[in-house]
Amino acid sequence: MSEYQPSTNCLHAGYVPGSGEPRNIPIVQSTTFRYATGEAMGALFDLEAEGYFYTRLQNPTNDQVAAKICALEGGTAAMLTSSGQAANFFAIFNIASCGDHVVASSAIYGGTFNLFAVTMKRMGIDFTFVGPDCTEEELEAAFRPNTKAVFGETIANPALTVLDIEKFARCAHAHGVPLIVDNTFPTPIHCRPFQWGADIVTHSTTKYMDGHANAVGGAIVDSGKFDWNRYADKFPGLTTPDESYHGITYTERFGLGGAYITKATAQLMRDFGATPAPMNSYFVNVGLETLPLRVEKHCANAQAAAEFLASHPKVAWVNYPGLPGNPYYALARKYMPDGTCGVVSFGVQGGREAASRFMAGLKLASIATHVADAKTCVLHPASTTHRQMNDEELLAAGVSADLVRLSVGIEDPADILADLEQALALV
Ligand SMILES: *Cc1c(COP(=O)(O)O)cnc(C)c1O
Repeated sequence: MSEYQPSTNCLHAGYVPGSGEPRNIPIVQSTTFRYATGEAMGALFDLEAEGYFYTRLQNPTNDQVAAKICALEGGTAAMLTSSGQAANFFAIFNIASCGDHVVASSAIYGGTFNLFAVTMKRMGIDFTFVGPDCTEEELEAAFRPNTKAVFGETIANPALTVLDIEKFARCAHAHGVPLIVDNTFPTPIHCRPFQWGADIVTHSTTKYMDGHANAVGGAIVDSGKFDWNRYADKFPGLTTPDESYHGITYTERFGLGGAYITKATAQLMRDFGATPAPMNSYFVNVGLETLPLRVEKHCANAQAAAEFLASHPKVAWVNYPGLPGNPYYALARKYMPDGTCGVVSFGVQGGREAASRFMAGLKLASIATHVADAKTCVLHPASTTHRQMNDEELLAAGVSADLVRLSVGIEDPADILADLEQALALV
C-alpha cells in the first residue's frame, strides 16, 4: 500500500477485503480463536506461525488499524495500545529496565512527564530532562553509559515547542541509542519523523487520529532502521534469547524490521495487557479515513484564531508555531511545511483570574481535558492537567500560570472567532 499517497492510505492501507468480504474493517469482538488441533495452536505460542489465539496479545481489528498507521508513518511494524500513556510506557520499557537511563525533552505532555519522572523512576529508570532548545553540547552532556533512548514530542502538548528532530536523532545515534518521537500533534499527515532520523514513533490516537472524542488509544510504530545488533550489549532484550519466550532471539527471528514490535507484543502486552478494545480500534479507523481533511481544516481555523488573538488588546501573548515571529516558526516550516496542528495557546491580560473569567464566558468552546477534537475545546493547564507540577517544572515544560490552551475545532471559523471575541469582552 505504500505506493499510495497518505490520504489514500488513510482510506485503504491495512485492510484489503477479498471478494464478498466486508468493505469496512470488521470488528472482531472475540477474546479467543478456535483451532482444529493443539499442535496448530502450539505453533502460535512458539511464535512459529502467524495467527490469533487471544485478544490480549493480538486481534485482527487492532492489527489492521495498526497496519494503516504503520503505512502512514512509513514504518516496518506497528501495534496499538489501549492509550497513548501505554504507548509511551511500552516504547521505552521495551528497551530500558531497572538501572537504565533515558534522555527526554522537558517539553512534553504532563501525563508523560509524570510517567517518566515519577512512575518509571520508581521502577529504577532514571530520566534526564533537557530543554527542547538545548545546544548540541548540552544534549551531549545528558548522556550516560547506561542511556538507552532519547524521547521528545514533535510538537509538545501544551507548550507547542517544535522538536529539532535531526539534532536529537544525531545525538541519539552518536551514542548508539534510538530516538523515540511522540508524533501525536502533527499526525503523519503533517510530519513523518522517520524521514528526519527518528527510529520509533508513538501516538495518542485519542487525539486527531480518532478526532471525535470517541476512544482513548495509542500506537507505536517502528521504522526498522535502528541497528540493535550493532549495539547488542546495550539491548540484550532484543539480541539475546528471551527465556520467557522459549529462548527466542527477537532480532534473529524477526529481523530489524520486526524485532522491536514483536518483543513489545510478546512480552509487554502479554504481561501488562494494555490492549485496545477492537471496537475502539474501529472508531480510530473511522477517524483515520478523514484525517487529512480534518487536519487541514483544524490548521486553517487555528491559524485564523491565532492571528485574531495576536491582534486582540486583551491578549498578552499568543503561541502558535504557524505564526511568523514565533520562535519555532522556522523549525515548523522545515519539519511541517503543510501546517502544524490545531492547538493554540495564549495568555489573557490579567493572568490566572482573567483567564478563568474568559473560560467561563465561552459559549461555543467546551471546557474539556481534551485536544484535537472536531469540536473546539479549551483548558487552563496550570489548574488541571499540569497541577501536579511545581512552578519550576511548569516553566521547564513551557507552561505559565496564565496559559490557556485552545484546541481549535472544525466549526465555521467565523463562529469560533465570535465566541473568542465575546468571551474576551467579559474580561
Ligand atoms: C494525550 C497525549 C498523550 C497521552 O495519551 P492518552 O491517549 O491520553 O493516554 C501522550 N502524548 C501526547 C502528546 C498527548 O497529547
